[in-house]
Amino acid sequence: MTGKRLFGTNGVRGVIGSGMTPMLALSIGLALGSMRTGNIAIGRDTRTSGPALANAVKAGLLATGCDVTDCGILPTPALQYLVQEHFAAGAMITASHNPPEYNGVKVIEPDGTEMGDEETIQLEARVLDEEVPLVAWNVTGRECKATHLVHEYTDAIVRSFPQGIGEGITVAIDPGCGAACETTPQILTRLGCRVFTINSQMDGNFPGRLPEPSPEGLLALGDLVRSTGAAFGIAHDGDADRAVFLDERGQFIEENQEFALIANQVCKERKGTVVMPVSTSRVVETIAHANGCDVRYTPVGSIYVARAMRALEKEGRSVALGGEGNGGIIYPDHQFCRDGGMTAAMMVSILARECTPVSKLVAALPEFFLIKDKITGTNPSAMIARVNAMFSAESIDRTDGIRINRADSWALVRPSGTEPLVRVIVESPRKEIADAFFGEIMQSLVQ
Ligand code: MG
Repeated sequence: MTGKRLFGTNGVRGVIGSGMTPMLALSIGLALGSMRTGNIAIGRDTRTSGPALANAVKAGLLATGCDVTDCGILPTPALQYLVQEHFAAGAMITASHNPPEYNGVKVIEPDGTEMGDEETIQLEARVLDEEVPLVAWNVTGRECKATHLVHEYTDAIVRSFPQGIGEGITVAIDPGCGAACETTPQILTRLGCRVFTINSQMDGNFPGRLPEPSPEGLLALGDLVRSTGAAFGIAHDGDADRAVFLDERGQFIEENQEFALIANQVCKERKGTVVMPVSTSRVVETIAHANGCDVRYTPVGSIYVARAMRALEKEGRSVALGGEGNGGIIYPDHQFCRDGGMTAAMMVSILARECTPVSKLVAALPEFFLIKDKITGTNPSAMIARVNAMFSAESIDRTDGIRINRADSWALVRPSGTEPLVRVIVESPRKEIADAFFGEIMQSLVQ
């Protein structure tokens, strides 16, 4: 978003020693401490740089008079849940799905959502420009440790489902040595599932696979699914706000299809709006409409989805579900952030209800062909202007970049926030139409 220099849509992130240092973490702690009062919760994922950054953020908060509660290693949605229940704000030390050498800080607001653009710009100004006043020796903050609090998060998820809903269901879990090594196996075991795990020891070297749960990284999970006869496999990114799935044959389920499967379950019981970014496959919209729900599109980024969901609820409208087509799903009855543990539990409830193999549930979804590409160019805004001119006679949505909507197809062209390139997504129920549409877009981009 315009105006932000350090923070992206998911906080500050960088490679340890260059883009992210304990000195920067200290500045963020000081800046946040000067904007907030009260007790601030700190959590981290399993990265090796986590303790150094967490202690630096804590030092800044304590020196500006905030109290600090260290919640230890836990998923980002667990910290968000705890902040919403108990704290004045939160700081999560994580680089989510990025490789092991990265780390970052994500600031959590008292309602459990990630800090929005306006507040983040203020925070950045304090990090970059201002001398933050420190408090006197007799009013500095106090620290306490509360690594036990994470159970409140797992309890809340387990309570959301009927007792024993997972009985008779075998599940294979790959937390990727990240933040959900304890929580997701606990949640599914308590729901009654028989649970097998791989990469379930917390380890910031990520010896089993990278924190991004990509199909290539989940081959061992696929073996575990097949050898245990599991109904499905589940894997998280490093901080477990996302969950992705393998079917009972060990095949990766594309994340938009995952979103559609979950929407199909939720929208049967809960009518209202399904909220998602303009980059989401139309398979979700189709499923929402088929279940009597409507849809609302937002800019790309889970924070925009969460805030649109809250705004709709404030207007008195019912919100069924929110999410992105990357395995990050938001359940408004639980909390307004992406939650991988909750998504794992939701897949168990789908199987308990449907008694059909996951591969068959996926095969029953409407088929769409999705093309995703990145086009490098020195002047992305000129590229976007050319697309704008070329398709100006068509139905255009400018929520984020340019989305061209045709009868049964759509295309999204948006500039990257961080690199000299534009991202292109094209989708159609028919492959040849998707290919031709993509060709048209490419022609306008590479003139
Ligand atoms: Mg994440």
